[in-house]
Amino acid sequence: MLTYLNALLLTLSGLTCLALYRHHTTQQKAKQHQLLATRVFETTDEAIIITDPDVNIIAVNPAFCRITGYSETEVLGKNPRMLSSGRHDKQHYQRMWQTLLREGTWAGEIWNRRKSGETYPEWQTISEVRDSRGKLINYIAVFADISSMHRAQAMIENLSWRDPLTGMANRALFLNRIEQAIANAAREGLIAYVLLLDIDRFKNVNEAYGPITGDALLKAIAERFSHVLRKEDVLARLDSDAFALLIPCRTADRIASGHEIVVIAEKLRVLLHNGVEVDGRLIHLDAGIGISVITASSHEIALDVLHHADMAMRQAKSADTNRIVFFEAAMGAAIMQLYQLEQELHLAVAHNELRLYLQPQVDANGVQVGAEALVRWQHPERGLISPAVFIPMAETSDLIIAIDRWMMAGVCKLLAQLKSQGSTLHISINVSPRHFRRADFVDEIKAQLAVSGADAGNLVLEVTEGLVIGDIDQAVAKMNQLKSLGIHFSMDDFGTGYSSLSYLKRLPIQELKIDKSFIDDIITDANAAVLVETILAVARHLHLQVVAEGIETQAQVDFLNSHGAVIHQGYLFGHPEPVEQWLSKLPAAT
Ligand code: C2E
Ligand code: CA
Ligand code: CA
Repeated sequence: MLTYLNALLLTLSGLTCLALYRHHTTQQKAKQHQLLATRVFETTDEAIIITDPDVNIIAVNPAFCRITGYSETEVLGKNPRMLSSGRHDKQHYQRMWQTLLREGTWAGEIWNRRKSGETYPEWQTISEVRDSRGKLINYIAVFADISSMHRAQAMIENLSWRDPLTGMANRALFLNRIEQAIANAAREGLIAYVLLLDIDRFKNVNEAYGPITGDALLKAIAERFSHVLRKEDVLARLDSDAFALLIPCRTADRIASGHEIVVIAEKLRVLLHNGVEVDGRLIHLDAGIGISVITASSHEIALDVLHHADMAMRQAKSADTNRIVFFEAAMGAAIMQLYQLEQELHLAVAHNELRLYLQPQVDANGVQVGAEALVRWQHPERGLISPAVFIPMAETSDLIIAIDRWMMAGVCKLLAQLKSQGSTLHISINVSPRHFRRADFVDEIKAQLAVSGADAGNLVLEVTEGLVIGDIDQAVAKMNQLKSLGIHFSMDDFGTGYSSLSYLKRLPIQELKIDKSFIDDIITDANAAVLVETILAVARHLHLQVVAEGIETQAQVDFLNSHGAVIHQGYLFGHPEPVEQWLSKLPAAT
């Protein structure tokens, strides 16, 4: 095998020393030459593989065994493919072979796998070897393990992109990421936010506890922040005590995404305020946060975005109360107002600010047969707030459950009172999916009925199609349990959701509520009229009662009455009004 080496090694790039011998022709020299080649093969730091024309390994050198961990006997006769790491696709190898066949040689970086399973990068040169008649006799590959070079490179990169103290992105990397977010916003319309958080009087910490504790504290803060964030968020440290965040949103809705950001900013602020532990000591901190936004229409460069966040942050730092400030004042005001409202809503139940309103439901003759309970929020400063404003907000958390429970208690109390007056009016109440899905929902309703003495037979639970998404069997089981108590179910907003007839048949409901949006158009739009007619036919077929909501004109009443027996609810028959007012209008005994 070593007899090949003379010729072979001359083809190796990098082993230039051998070229010196090219012009010596005597036997003596040839022999020396061969000896030297053998020695190089045995001692060089670069791994060498020699294969036959069919690419079966016929020789490897000690360096090969050192680098790959395989012994010569383990690889002889095998294809060097056995070393592949799986990191490169088929095309990579195809390109390599194309170059090799065309030019007789290929050089490049390739990732292979050691016997231990570890992958590593190598710089490889592959050359063909042909005899004097040009016939292919061997391939020879020479490679060096360059993982240490890679590590060094990564370290250099780390140094130029990372904050050495916390390991987070530094200003250069952060600006680079903002640039990417700007490109994404322009391309996909997605919004991103930049938050700049500057800690108040951090200098004091350094002075009081020393710079080592100060550094440990900054590291601890970075660590705590990273737990609040998602994978796609970028956290950076720009200055000693200034942190920056880039938060891409999944929506293009300014108010919704802005609200999300305030929630995150507030979380970070509260985290610092509650204290970060370092060296067994809890250190409480405050911070001002400035926020700027990246949208599809912002024609700014990364530096502008950062500058805007910085300006907002300075304003936040100078304020005593308003510690989160948006660069765009108008947007900030709307978002902060919503956020504040949400905070206040948490207290609304405890402060007794919710109100129970009722809206009458009448039969074809205009006689009241029941009412829908609707919640209102009597805000101490803002006045009466519509549930259309605060219910969607409450639905994002368990707050909606507190509201629903408060309403249920009020409705049960009302039912008990109606019972004592000999009234058989039904009261409908809206049940949010989040509440309904709770494991103890059935028990809770039972308990409320028992405590109040209300008649379950006069209680109607209005559910929406969203309720059955997911586990329909479980939903049906719960509904059946409640139905066995005498409770009725009504499908609210019918027609706006999935409205699949198959599940309509499976659910134990007694009533459909045709959504206001259809009723609005029945007189003017033939399609809406046909749709309502169809819903009425389906309801008749399934023996369901129908309530039409949002009735404002006599024409709508006439249309509905001419198509079937429908219960009417709408401003034409009465606006929602406070429970006392509604009660006072009831005839002595209904
Ligand atoms: P909804 O269940 O579809 O309630 C009907 C809404 O239509 C009510 O709005 C009612 O005031 C309004 N409406 C009734 N008739 C007319 C009419 O003729 N014209 C017009 N323009 N509107 C009419 P409201 O009270 O603002 O409630 C909005 C939504 O808030 C409700 O829609 C319901 O989804 C939710 N909601 C209200 N109270 C509660 C509650 O106690 N719990 C839960 N989970 N949700 C509630
Ligand atoms: Ca309703
Ligand atoms: Ca509705």
